[in-house]
Amino acid sequence: MEVRSCRSCGKLYNYLGRTTPVCPNCMKLLEEKFQVVKEYIRDNPGANIQKVSDATEVSVKIIKQWVREERLSFAEGSGVGLECESCGANILTGRFCANCKGKVMQDINGILESNKPKPVEQKKQKDSAKMRFLDN
Ligand SMILES: [Zn+2]
Ligand SMILES: [Zn+2]
Repeated sequence: MEVRSCRSCGKLYNYLGRTTPVCPNCMKLLEEKFQVVKEYIRDNPGANIQKVSDATEVSVKIIKQWVREERLSFAEGSGVGLECESCGANILTGRFCANCKGKVMQDINGILESNKPKPVEQKKQKDSAKMRFLDN
């Protein structure tokens, strides 16, 4: 187990991977905030990200992160201010537009396919990396 200091309050806590970016206490607070934001967006479907942030006192950065994680989504035309990470098109949730999402999934599958059948080569690469490390 790994002990880290919380990015939000600075307290030490048991880090269990990416599902615990902050301490359990802050996770709980953040989760409560998430519900507030979610309800606000539901009640004010036309609100943009800045307005939601002002109204709920949750930073734009955190709201955007939730949107990127597809936990939140904004209504069409609310100007959420998110762009597809691939082509820059305006999107309402996630990281990519529907178009690019399809492409990215294909790419990922392609990469997985090409990596699969070569366990021997992967081992070689590891060894040479080790050699370089020793040379330094
Ligand atoms: Zn904390
Ligand atoms: Zn795109």
